[in-house]
Amino acid sequence: MDFGLSEEQRAIAKTTRAFVENELYPYEAEVERSGHLRPELISQIREKAIAAGLYAANMPEEVGGAGLDTLTWLLYEKELGRASYALHWTCVARPSNILLAGTDAQKEKYLYPCVRGEKSDCLAMTEPGAGSDLRGMAASAVQDGDDWVLNGTKHFISHADIADFAIVFMASGEEEGMSAPERGRRRKITAFFVDKGTPGFHVRDGYRNVSHRGYTNSILEFDNCRLPKEQVLGEVHKGFEVANDWLGATRLQVAATCLGRAERALSHAIDYAAQRQQFGQQIGKFQGVSFKLADMAMELKAAELMVMEAGWKYDQKTVTDQDMAMAKLKATEMLAFVADEAIQIHGGMGLMDDLPLERIWRDARVERIWEGTSEIQRHIISRAMLRAVGG
Ligand SMILES: Cc1cc2nc3c(=O)[nH]c(=O)nc-3n(C[C@H](O)[C@H](O)[C@H](O)COP(=O)(O)OP(=O)(O)OC[C@H]3O[C@@H](n4cnc5c(N)ncnc54)[C@H](O)[C@@H]3O)c2cc1C
Repeated sequence: MDFGLSEEQRAIAKTTRAFVENELYPYEAEVERSGHLRPELISQIREKAIAAGLYAANMPEEVGGAGLDTLTWLLYEKELGRASYALHWTCVARPSNILLAGTDAQKEKYLYPCVRGEKSDCLAMTEPGAGSDLRGMAASAVQDGDDWVLNGTKHFISHADIADFAIVFMASGEEEGMSAPERGRRRKITAFFVDKGTPGFHVRDGYRNVSHRGYTNSILEFDNCRLPKEQVLGEVHKGFEVANDWLGATRLQVAATCLGRAERALSHAIDYAAQRQQFGQQIGKFQGVSFKLADMAMELKAAELMVMEAGWKYDQKTVTDQDMAMAKLKATEMLAFVADEAIQIHGGMGLMDDLPLERIWRDARVERIWEGTSEIQRHIISRAMLRAVGG
């Protein structure tokens, strides 16, 4: 096995790291304190990211992206993940891969403008009554002649306030005899493109979030929102299949961004342990502190190996759902541990916003919830083992 990186991979990571440190770090405090991204700041950083070839780098070359293989893309995500989520996600956007599933006309209307930085997308599945159990969604799409009529509510939808359109998943029917009666029928799901400004589609401010300040979430309301059939993404009733085909690696993306932030927190902790003196010596000389550093480094390395292996397997087409669930679970739980220990090593200073640690610690919390909670990842991992023996 060769775990070495190619020169090209090293160069991409280095360029991304330099961009993050020079263009994003200087604005982190502003975004944290205001909870807001100024539109001029978004445009300014976006233009620089486009010029540096870092914008929409997750996309294939033929549609204007960087054409990175999955492993290299994850190295790029890891570096972006070092910075404030609001800044790196909004200003150095990675359009959803699901846009690649559109028809030629949909690609012209949605994909290419997103890759060029002229439009941005958001993706809406979650509802107040349907989070982990997405098949239980209630928001519906009903066919009426050549049109579809959408009704219902989505919530927690990231950056929908600034997105130009939403990719929305709606219940379009019910499966026959699929599940136990007490659980209700599993829904058939269809995905749609819905443009901002479509009559009957409203975006309201969402909740204030302890993690990722400036990275907003919204409530989407559909009230007899009528769409022509050209707005269907993929096949009717096959919304989950489209999502499974195109969104599989999103869990790895979340995991990779956690690696970057953990590395940043660890590096602060190492520096502080070497520099802070108590009882007449560096605190890093106390085993109670130095062993923390060892455990943090080991957990980070284990998570990194799991994420990168899953990325490599993704390209070999051998990756399994368990591989990706394990990588997401490990990286998100590792970040929570590393961020917490980094604060402990800093004592009271760790909680002050002079350092990025209290932010990394707060931001870490959401990682175990979105893109499938830790419990759902454990369910995926254990189900695969049990099913293999008839469980
Ligand atoms: C800041 C933020 C941004 C988000 N952005 C988006 C977005 O852009 N688009 C979008 O569609 N969604 C988004 N989400 C939604 C996110 O994916 C959901 O929050 C997540 O899937 C969990 O759903 P829930 O919050 O409804 O929790 P629930 O599903 O209600 O879970 C509550 C608890 O029950 C546990 N639980 C549920 N089912 C099981 C089970 N079978 N076994 C064991 N435990 C279980 C969960 O693990 C959790 O601990 C976002 C969420 C947040 C917080």
